[in-house]
Amino acid sequence: MRFLITGAAGFLGSALANRLVDEGHTVRALDDLSTGSPDVLSPDVFLTRGDINDRPKLWTLLQDVDCVYHLAARVSVPESVLYPREYNLVNVGGTVTLMEAMRDVGVRRVVFISSGTVYGDQTEQPLTESLQPNPRSPYAVSKVAAEYYVRSIGMLWGIESVCLRVFNAYGPGQHLPPVHAPIIPYFLRQAWNQGTLVLHGDGSQTRDYVYVDDVVQAAVSASSAPDINQRIINVGSGVETSVQELARQVIEVTGGSPEVIYNPRNEGGVRRMCADLTLAQQYLGYRPTVSLTDGLRKTLEQNPRLRMK
Ligand code: NAD
Repeated sequence: MRFLITGAAGFLGSALANRLVDEGHTVRALDDLSTGSPDVLSPDVFLTRGDINDRPKLWTLLQDVDCVYHLAARVSVPESVLYPREYNLVNVGGTVTLMEAMRDVGVRRVVFISSGTVYGDQTEQPLTESLQPNPRSPYAVSKVAAEYYVRSIGMLWGIESVCLRVFNAYGPGQHLPPVHAPIIPYFLRQAWNQGTLVLHGDGSQTRDYVYVDDVVQAAVSASSAPDINQRIINVGSGVETSVQELARQVIEVTGGSPEVIYNPRNEGGVRRMCADLTLAQQYLGYRPTVSLTDGLRKTLEQNPRLRMK
């Protein structure tokens, strides 16, 4: 098949692009390289540097494409609180620009990578797709708005769509930016270097951590699975892990003895998150295969930057 992946030079996009070319597919990539890097992509991926709102580039790249994976986005929750306009422009506006271009060129299917953050705080766990979204940040708002656009425009214009709500993904290729770093690479590097692990609130807030290969497997299935048009499907591990428990496993895997401190001034956001995977199993044949301990070990082993001072 022929694919276009937006945001393909990023953490999840590159893992997906490399897997698809390994399987013999043709993969075009669009990325502005704002956080992504061309170095992580197989030379067989055709990368174009450009913005998701660049209509002429989209038109060219979409010719003869069977399916689009849409991942290009600004992805930091705390950054989105500072710059909501930018998040709206890229994550919502960019999605609409892409859908218009897909309509004009005549592309059949889009797989939109959405986020478990759209649920926000809910009274019941695990989180099922039928719950009313309760987004608590501009990032989460942008993802749920983009979902509505993808599904409504798709329905009106005859473009098949599926939205995958990915929970907290992690793995070797995840960036470690100097500010607003994702928790797993931050914890691993701190623990390896005998630094300090700062836990927000009392550390009892929970998340669903899912290894990158499992996310990629779900995304690959979504490009050809039958009966998934218009569906929203969770992609997680199905395991609810407290931040405290994550810290314990990180310490065990690294063999370090970092100082663990609690920051009571920051409550740590949403209290609980755990994905219900019934629909993922039913429609994508999805079963997560990598446990948190194994995933942490692989991440540490395969990302030498986490073991640097
Ligand atoms: P990432 O930052 O590594 O990837 C995003 C990519 O999009 C980067 O390569 C970046 O350069 C590119 N990009 C940003 N703005 C762009 C623009 N205006 N035009 C073109 N390209 C642009 O982050 P990621 O973790 O790989 O996230 C990929 C997608 O998965 C995002 O849509 C994100 O919302 C979603 N997601 C990620 C997670 C996670 O835990 N990593 C969880 C849920 C959803």
